[in-house]
Amino acid sequence: MTNLTFNKAEFQAALSRQWQFLGLDSAQEMTSHQWWHAVSGAVAERLAAQPKKTTPSTLRHVNYISMEFLIGRLTGNNLLNLGWYSDVADSLREYNIELSDLLEEETDPALGNGGLGRLAACFLDSMVTVGQPAIGYGLNYQYGLFKQSFIDGQQVESPDNWHRENYPWFRHNAALDVQVGIGGKVVKEGQSKRWEPAFVVKGEAWDLPVVGYKNNETQPLRLWQASHAQPFDFSLFNEGKFLQAEQTGIDAEKLTKVLYPNDNHLAGKQLRLMQQYFQCACSIADILRRHHRAGRKLMELPDYEVIQLNDTHPTIAIPEMMRVLLDEHQLDWDKAWHITRHTFAYTNHTLLQEGLECWDESIMQPLLPRHMQIINDINRHFKKIVDKKWPKDKAIWKKVAVVYEGEVRMANLCVVSCFAVNGVAALHSKLIVTDLFPEYNLLWPEKFFNVTNGVTPRRWIKQCNPELAALLDSVVNHEWANDLEAINVLEDYVDDAKFCQQYRAIKQNNKQRLAEFVKARTGIIINPQAMFDIQIKRLHEYKRQHLNLLHIMALYKDIRENPTTARVPRVFLFGAKAAPGYHLAKNIIYAINQVAEAINNDPKVGDQLKVVFLPDYCVSVAEKLIPAADISEQISTAGKEASGTGNMKLALNGALTVGTLDGATVEIAEKVGSENIFIFGLTVDEVKRMKAEGYDPVAWRKKNSVLDAILKELEDGTYSHGDKKAFKQILQSLGKEGGDPYMLMADFDSYVAAHQQAAALYQDQDAWTRTAILNTARCGMFSSDRTIADYQTRIWQAKRG
Ligand SMILES: *Cc1c(COP(=O)(O)O)cnc(C)c1O
Repeated sequence: MTNLTFNKAEFQAALSRQWQFLGLDSAQEMTSHQWWHAVSGAVAERLAAQPKKTTPSTLRHVNYISMEFLIGRLTGNNLLNLGWYSDVADSLREYNIELSDLLEEETDPALGNGGLGRLAACFLDSMVTVGQPAIGYGLNYQYGLFKQSFIDGQQVESPDNWHRENYPWFRHNAALDVQVGIGGKVVKEGQSKRWEPAFVVKGEAWDLPVVGYKNNETQPLRLWQASHAQPFDFSLFNEGKFLQAEQTGIDAEKLTKVLYPNDNHLAGKQLRLMQQYFQCACSIADILRRHHRAGRKLMELPDYEVIQLNDTHPTIAIPEMMRVLLDEHQLDWDKAWHITRHTFAYTNHTLLQEGLECWDESIMQPLLPRHMQIINDINRHFKKIVDKKWPKDKAIWKKVAVVYEGEVRMANLCVVSCFAVNGVAALHSKLIVTDLFPEYNLLWPEKFFNVTNGVTPRRWIKQCNPELAALLDSVVNHEWANDLEAINVLEDYVDDAKFCQQYRAIKQNNKQRLAEFVKARTGIIINPQAMFDIQIKRLHEYKRQHLNLLHIMALYKDIRENPTTARVPRVFLFGAKAAPGYHLAKNIIYAINQVAEAINNDPKVGDQLKVVFLPDYCVSVAEKLIPAADISEQISTAGKEASGTGNMKLALNGALTVGTLDGATVEIAEKVGSENIFIFGLTVDEVKRMKAEGYDPVAWRKKNSVLDAILKELEDGTYSHGDKKAFKQILQSLGKEGGDPYMLMADFDSYVAAHQQAAALYQDQDAWTRTAILNTARCGMFSSDRTIADYQTRIWQAKRG
C-alpha cells in the first residue's frame, strides 16, 4: 500500500510552486485567501500524484448517484482525515500563519439543499474509510444553494457563486468526457430502435478527492459539468454569424448552472429533468466504460456494480441503462431487464406527497422520446404481474402503475425496477411498507429494508468539536473516530467529578465561541451562561419552526406578566433557509425575526430571553452551532421526518433533545433512555386517529388561553407595526382555512411541558452534565460507518437467491 505520510520539505516545495504560479515572489505577498488556496493546492497536488490502488476488491463496487452532495469545506476535513492537520499547522507557523484562520477563507461548496445532500457527503466519507469501493456521481453546479440574508426581517436570496473554476481540490479528467443526447426522435431499424437526438452536449468529469480517515485511501466524487459538445456551429460560423454560432454552447452550459433550491419538493420543470438526465447519462456511460475496461461481460454487471439512487432524483438512470443495453448493445429485453433489476437499489427519503416526483409525459416525451417508450414498456410488463395478482382490480392499478393518465411516477418506477428499496430510519421504513407501498410489499416483501442514517464522526465530532475529541482520546484507549461505539466507555465516567467538570467546560468554551460568532454575524450579544436552544434545518411546515416560535412567544408573555419570577435564561437560535417560492416558509422566517426584534430590544427582558436567527445556515455554520447546543429541537409532526441527521450530530455533541417520536429521534430515544430526552407530542398512531376522527384546530386553540392570546398577537399587528396581514400565511395555515395540517395546536401543550422539564433540569448543572454525557456515550451507533456496514450486509453485498 502506498503511504500518504506528511513530508514537510515536499509540502513546502509544493507551497512555493503555488505562489510562483500566482506570479508572486514570496509567501509574504499572499493574501489570506491565497494562503488557503495555496495550502489546498499543495495538498491536492500530492493526492493527485498518489498512484491508483491496484489490488482488486472482492466487494461489489458502489455507484452512489445523487443530485446533491452537501460536502461543506474540504481543506480542513481532508487534512484531518489524512492525519496531516497538526503537521501542516506547524509548518505554517514558520510563516506566521494560523491554519484555523486560513480555513475560514474557504467558501462552502453548497451543492445541496439539506439533509439528503449532507447524507450523501457523510456516506462518501464513510465508504472510503471502511474500505467500501465507491464513487459518488453528482453535478458540478456553478451556483450552489443561494446565499441568505435578512432585510427588515424578510429572507433575501442572492446567488452563490462559489467559483468552481478556481476551486483547488478539483481535477478535470478530460479522458472521461461523455456525449449526452437530448430531444429528437426514435427511428426503427428492423426489430431494433434507435434514438436520434436533436442536440448533443458534452459532460465533463470534475473529480474531488474523498479522503479516507488515516487509511491512505482516496476515492472520487465525480461531478459532471455540462459544456457544448461542439464549441461552435461551423456552418453558421462560416456564414459569418459568429454570435449565433456561439449560442449553442451557451445553452448547454445552462444545464449545470444552478442547483434547484427546493428541499422535499419536486420542481416539475423541464430544466430540472434535463439536469437529472444529463447526470444519469454521464454516470451510466462511466460505469459501463469502467466495466468494459476491466474486461467484464455485460451480464456480469450486477456481480460487480451496484447503483444506489439517492431518492428518486436519479431515477431516469434506470431507463437510460435499459436504452444503452437494448439499443447500443442489442441485448434483448429479458437480458437487459435482468441486468437492470439486479443492479439498481433505491433509497426513499420522504413520505410527503409533494416530495414524490411525478413527471408529465408531455414534458418527458419531447426531451427523452426513447426513454418514454422504455418506461411505457416497463409499465406494460409490470401490468401483467399486477393483473395476475389482483385480476381486474382497477383501484390497485391506479395506485401502483408506473405511468398513469399521462404521469410518470418515479418512486413507482424505482420500486418496480430495483432489487432493494430502503427507508432511512426504523419508523420511516415501517411506514414505507404500511402506508406508502403496501401493495408492492405484498408482491415483493424481500425488496424492503431499513437502513438507519448516520453522520460521519470525523466532521461532526473531531473537526467541529476538537476539545470534545481530545477528551474522548483521553478516555477511550483506542481510535474512536472510526469505531464510534467505543465512546460508550464514557458511561463509566458520569460519576467522575473531574471528568464531568471537563466535559462541561468544553461545552462552555464552545458556547463562548458561538456567542462571539453570533455577535460578529448579527451584532446581538448573548449570554454564554444561558441555555442555548437550537433549531437548525431547512424551513418547512412539517419541521414546525413555528411551533418553536409559539413557545418563545408564550415565554415572552410570561416574562411580561410575571417579571419577578426567577427563570432559566435562554437563548433560542435558528438557522434555516426557505425555498424562494415557498411563501409560508418565508412568512415563518419573517415572524421569527419580528418576534426576535421585539424581545431582544425589550429592556424588561434582559438576559432572560434572546432570539437569534443566524442568516445563511450552511455546513460551516452548523459546525459552529452544534458543539455549542444545550437543547436540540427535533419537533416535526410524527410520521413526517424520514430520519433527520441533525438530531444525531447534536446528540453526539451533548445536546439534549426536545423532540417528537419521529424519524431517527425514535431510535435516539431508545438508545439514550427516556430519562435522558424530552419527548412530547402525538405519536404516529395518535396523529392518524385524530385526523380520522376529524381534527379541529380552532377548538384546540379555544381550549388554551395562552395559545389563543399569542395567536391574537400575530393577528393584531403587535409584532408588525400594526400590519394585520403580516403573518397571513401562518395564521391561515393554523386556522380553520388551512386546518393546521401539522397539528401544532394539538402538540402545543405537551411541547411547553417538555421545555419546562428541560429548564428544570438545567437548574441542576450536575444532573444536566450527566445527562449530556450519556447522550454522547450512547449515540455511537449513529456513525455513518455503521450505516454503510448495514448497507453492505443488507443490500450491497448480500447474497442474492
Ligand atoms: C445535517 C444538516 C442538515 C440536516 O438537518 P436535519 O435537522 O436532519 O433536517 C441540513 N443542513 C445542514 C447544513 C446540515 O449540516
